[in-house]
Amino acid sequence: MLILYLNNVSIMDPEGIVIRIKTPAGDMDSSVDSPSLLNFNDLLVAIRDVMPEATVTAFEYEDEVGDRITVRSDEELKAMLSYYFNTMNEQRMNGLMPDPLQIFPRAGKTPGIRNIHGLKVNTRPNPANDCTHAVQDTMASNSLKKSSAELKRILTNGQINAQDIHYQEQLGHGNGGTVYKAYHIIGKRVLAVKVIPLDITVELQKQIMSELEILYKCDSPYIITFFSAFFVENRISICTEFMDGGSLDVYKRIPEHVLGRIAVAVVNGLTYLWSLKILHRDVKPSNMLVNTRGQVKLCDFGVSTQLVNSIAKTYVGTNAYMAPERISGEQYGIHADVWSVGISFMELALGMFPYPQIQKNQGSLMPLQLLQCIVDEDPPVLPVSQFSEKFVHFITQCMRRQPKERPAPNNLMDHSFIIQYNDGNAEVVSMWVCRCLEERRAQEAQGRV
Ligand code: ATP
Ligand code: MG
Repeated sequence: MLILYLNNVSIMDPEGIVIRIKTPAGDMDSSVDSPSLLNFNDLLVAIRDVMPEATVTAFEYEDEVGDRITVRSDEELKAMLSYYFNTMNEQRMNGLMPDPLQIFPRAGKTPGIRNIHGLKVNTRPNPANDCTHAVQDTMASNSLKKSSAELKRILTNGQINAQDIHYQEQLGHGNGGTVYKAYHIIGKRVLAVKVIPLDITVELQKQIMSELEILYKCDSPYIITFFSAFFVENRISICTEFMDGGSLDVYKRIPEHVLGRIAVAVVNGLTYLWSLKILHRDVKPSNMLVNTRGQVKLCDFGVSTQLVNSIAKTYVGTNAYMAPERISGEQYGIHADVWSVGISFMELALGMFPYPQIQKNQGSLMPLQLLQCIVDEDPPVLPVSQFSEKFVHFITQCMRRQPKERPAPNNLMDHSFIIQYNDGNAEVVSMWVCRCLEERRAQEAQGRV
């Protein structure tokens, strides 16, 4: 193994990091003393020096679920470093040595420009000659493999054990259970674990586990990644990807240009679920999660009828985001999810539930009689003076009282409001989430003074 040192860095940063460049010839470790001064071009030149035969124009890193993210600019490099620092901190908090930052060069066939920025690269002899290093390297690369592809396999085989989870803090409490931020020690990653108490027979437990199997197959950037579920005594724990921005219900009024990008993700997520013949059944702001990378993902969709039924026996009430046909107990289908999209986005745009006579105190479950106005009255309309025509039309279409008059899945994706914001600009959401989190932290700090 070669060790590569990047020498163009100053000593201003409090601590350095190790970047592991994964090449077909092996791993190259680069120690970077001042990551904040590192720029995309310098790193690219360093990569080209260790892969002179290839044209490298970009590289990738793996996120917490093993998906590859491409880096092509200084901005994307910054996002990668900030993701890596978070992971490093989590590992330290849990008493672990941080893994190096692994990057995977994306190589073409023709030779590239070499070291135009004059970056000095010192290659060192292969430390594998030294037995101690060799053992450590093997262990390190094993653990790294575990934290990506192998981990995904372990997790998706349902091998997360209760004793390997460190619970860190409570993220929230819903109508069925409590969600915790947790750390999976073996997988070295942060999880969200939803714990639901259920007094049911072992037979029913088995049925729920088999109904949840479809979650392993869900693979969409707009759907929360499911890792595993297990029963301990009379509680089921469902482990999923953690989203550091939390759910949309805790954000105040969301500006339309941000909401537009969020709507694109939600509609994409639902279209994906519908393509698998899964109805979400619980579309509402608290089941739309965001992160500081600007991703928006749906969670808590009802794939297990047994699980939904078992929870419903304990928590009685009707969900305020349900379509009129569901409130009045009629048959329903995809169009009921479309209504819930409409009412959710109306609430997020206004910063209040669109039926003022319905006071939601805790959660979204209400006595049926209180929701009768949703069945009886004309649906509310967004004020045209405050919102764009396209947005108002989108909401109005989704909230048609007659299910068949609401847009069908394809029409939803083709709505002019969705088309307008379907530009792949995750930065808008990312910046908005970061700003809101900062504001929240500042307010909390003030409250503590
Ligand atoms: P319901 O039980 O009706 O779905 P709810 O969605 O408010 O209501 P939970 O699903 O139990 O309740 O979630 C509670 C809270 O935990 C959410 O509002 C959200 O803030 C947080 N949460 C849930 N899943 C995650 C996750 N994967 N990452 C980060 N936060 C999460
Ligand atoms: Mg939820």
